[in-house]
Amino acid sequence: MQSLWSDKDADAAVSRYADNGVSPDLALRVYTSRLLGGDPTLVLHGGGNTSVKTVVSDLVGEPTQVLCVKGSGWDMAAIEPAGLPAVRLGPLRTLRRRDALSDEDMVRVQRANLIDPGAPNPSVETLLHAFLPHKFVDHTHATAVLSLADQPDADERCAELYDGKLGIVPYIMPGFLLAKKAAEIFEEDETVEGLVLLKHGIFTFAETARDAYERMIDAVTLAEERLKRGRKNVFAPIALPAAIAKPEEAAPILRGACAVPEPADAYKRFVLDFRGGPAVLNLVNGADVGRYGRAGVATPDHTIRTKTYPLIVPAPEVGRLDDFAAASRAAVEAFVAEYRAYFARHDKGDKRQLDPAPRVVLVPGLGLFGLGRSAKDAAIAADLAESWVATVTDAEAVGTFESLPEAELFEMEYWSLEQAKLGGATEKPLQGQIAVVTGGAGTIGLATARALRAEGAEIALIDRAEADPEPAAKKLGGLGIVCDVTDPAAVAAAFDEVVARFGGVDIVVSNAGAAWQGKIGEVSDAVLRESFELNFFAHQNIAQKAVRIMRAQQTGGCLLFNVSKQAVNPGPSFGPYGLPKAATLALMRQYALEYGGEGIRSNAVNADGIRGGLLTSAMIADRAAAYGISETAYMSRNLLHREVTAEDVAAAFVDLALARNTTASIATVDGGNIAAAPR
Ligand SMILES: [Zn+2]
Repeated sequence: MQSLWSDKDADAAVSRYADNGVSPDLALRVYTSRLLGGDPTLVLHGGGNTSVKTVVSDLVGEPTQVLCVKGSGWDMAAIEPAGLPAVRLGPLRTLRRRDALSDEDMVRVQRANLIDPGAPNPSVETLLHAFLPHKFVDHTHATAVLSLADQPDADERCAELYDGKLGIVPYIMPGFLLAKKAAEIFEEDETVEGLVLLKHGIFTFAETARDAYERMIDAVTLAEERLKRGRKNVFAPIALPAAIAKPEEAAPILRGACAVPEPADAYKRFVLDFRGGPAVLNLVNGADVGRYGRAGVATPDHTIRTKTYPLIVPAPEVGRLDDFAAASRAAVEAFVAEYRAYFARHDKGDKRQLDPAPRVVLVPGLGLFGLGRSAKDAAIAADLAESWVATVTDAEAVGTFESLPEAELFEMEYWSLEQAKLGGATEKPLQGQIAVVTGGAGTIGLATARALRAEGAEIALIDRAEADPEPAAKKLGGLGIVCDVTDPAAVAAAFDEVVARFGGVDIVVSNAGAAWQGKIGEVSDAVLRESFELNFFAHQNIAQKAVRIMRAQQTGGCLLFNVSKQAVNPGPSFGPYGLPKAATLALMRQYALEYGGEGIRSNAVNADGIRGGLLTSAMIADRAAAYGISETAYMSRNLLHREVTAEDVAAAFVDLALARNTTASIATVDGGNIAAAPR
């Protein structure tokens, strides 16, 4: 591992932050924290922490000795001075005299001694930083160090490797007792440059930012070099079926199997994030995956994201996905039963069980999936799983991977201070669901996608190349796919892309459409057929593909069609548009009829007179002039005398997506039009 320290960059950080009144100490603390945070083999997603002891002015201007330590919720890769709240050092150090200190009291003392009462909570490892004398203290969960620290004989291995350069601290859960123990071990030999925390990670320290950082790099490099020596071959592979199904075939099956049934036929669903690189495959294909795969996490703070161990399912064989589904469901059932038993074994009656679903799934032949209640959380679980793969692979190459005893992992998973890291935000009604919107870059499609996203759904926008769905999708943190919905092969490929990205599909808004005109007795066959391709067959292409995925998931689903007013209230010369839309209305009912028994709902929105949809400004001006009224009056020709907007249509789609007992229904969004009211 190379040191990335650069005098030039360090000086630049000092002068850049000086302009905002940030001291050189804190500027350098930010600079090296970012160097550490930028390397995923050192820390990932809020893991690790750093500190600097310095002097700041308190709120009344008195110079005060403080510890600036990473705040909860900050990521080292992108940390700013505000992410290193200053805590009065004196009171923190006074705590060392105590024999015990509850977590609640520790947090209270830390918060009470913040210089800025509005700052984030200081790290749960604050006291460890405070009890050490050094100005700069760095802490990471480096994978190479963990490969040696997660061994049955980790203390001897680390003592031998570091040869007095680092102190060795036995595992203690983070908090007051660990901080005291670490300080005691440091004081046994004050020449050490850092501490290895068995089954947890590594600290280094020094008087300068550069030395503390480079001591970390040196210690990790030593571990990396040790891991290159005396390796045995890992892992002996199992025999795999000749043809393995693709991730997008396996994902909906796994996603459905892992969904947690909630009362009254609802599901708590997860988004999936797939990883299939060579290192992952090497591990999941190992004959012994049932042993090392279930040995536990690489460092305890991963348990809140990945649970204690992953779910392991058999390889998905092409042509035998039914067997894969049955085996996956049985594996999830066993996982859930074990999780409940694990909770019951360790809960002393004061904890509430978290959902029992796995957060990582290992699939021989294929790779691994991270699961989360959002795409972001799924990616975090997958990142942590990949880092676990690296730790376990190296640990097994030089010895035997060993994590903590189950009771310690439970303490960590259910530690209130760890759970607080997840933010505890209230979940949105469509959290964990995946929505596909066709015509997604158009006025109604985009408004609908935004509204679904606001309710927590992950979004895929499908549209023609000319409409360029990607920038709009990116803004929503979603997936943009160029696709001609009249081409069944392109639709199949688009859904494969959605499933490869998110793991499945729950809501489909089949919205793409265009208006062809012509008097029905005179219009050409070609025009009529073209309109049927887009305004009917494309809806069928979309719905058919979506239903196939929903049925693999077995968690129901929601089809939503945009049918025009023309479907129920034909207008002159709009036959080529209204006829296929009427067929699409019938299509909606057919799906409702045939798949209701599987929890798949099918509904339509009957919208009319939406500006920017099929109704262009030129058309509005033209029609208003023809009627001899203003454009505003033209757009408000309805019972409510109000213009109807794309957002109104979007709200109707969202309502139908949430209406769990509504199917075969049409929601009319037109401001009121008795002639077009469905009966
Ligand atoms: Zn740690």
